[in-house]
Amino acid sequence: MNSSDKRIIIALDGFSSSGKSTMARRLAAAISYRYIDSGAMYRAVTLYALDNGLIAPDGTPDTDGIIKALPQIKIDFAPQADGTQHTTLCGKDVEQEIRRLRVSNAVSPVSAIPQVRHALVAMQKELGKERGIVMDGRDIGTVVFPDAELKIFVDASAETRAMRRFKEMVDKGLQVSYEDVLANVVKRDHIDSTREESPLRRADDAISLDNSAMTIEEQDAWLLQQFERVTGRG
Ligand code: C5P
Repeated sequence: MNSSDKRIIIALDGFSSSGKSTMARRLAAAISYRYIDSGAMYRAVTLYALDNGLIAPDGTPDTDGIIKALPQIKIDFAPQADGTQHTTLCGKDVEQEIRRLRVSNAVSPVSAIPQVRHALVAMQKELGKERGIVMDGRDIGTVVFPDAELKIFVDASAETRAMRRFKEMVDKGLQVSYEDVLANVVKRDHIDSTREESPLRRADDAISLDNSAMTIEEQDAWLLQQFERVTGRG
């Protein structure tokens, strides 16, 4: 096998709404790799907790209850005819539901529970066994795949990220205010980067990308260039 045939692991980490999911999805499609949205897995656990009374009205998770429920929380990705995949929770398509602000507002404290992280990281490692995968999240380059051949850390200002997420939600017909979305982005940044268990941080060997002023096409081209550099393709 020469280096251009080598299937690698690509880790894309960054703050919420940095556009990394879009970048990761598009790169995976362009190079025929599998795309895994690790945030969707944390969101699915959170949805399960919300629907089963395991999160108090003030947002405090019932840590013991969630840990006990973990074996019942079955998460999967169902391929769709258009080439995308939908997150499923215990067999039900929850792709839309996990994107709502109700879940976004509750997800960070749930993701801070070490046992939740251990269970999901184990699943993520399993998904990456065959390589040829693009995974995005917060700890992919640091914890899930510390040996990933290509690691990218995406950043942009909180306002830029909140505006992107706001437009996305409005386009989907959701009723939200920009201020609420910005508050959620800032709060999640804080919880995600200060939690004790695998906080969001840039891996030492990750390449940084500030995409605030880049178009999607510019991001695609930049990513493909990084991929070709590492694999010797192109
Ligand atoms: O990427 P997304 O914004 O959908 O992730 C939702 C939440 O899941 C994040 O705010 C973070 O709390 C958590 N997360 C995580 N580790 C990952 C991916 C997501 O803690 N690898």
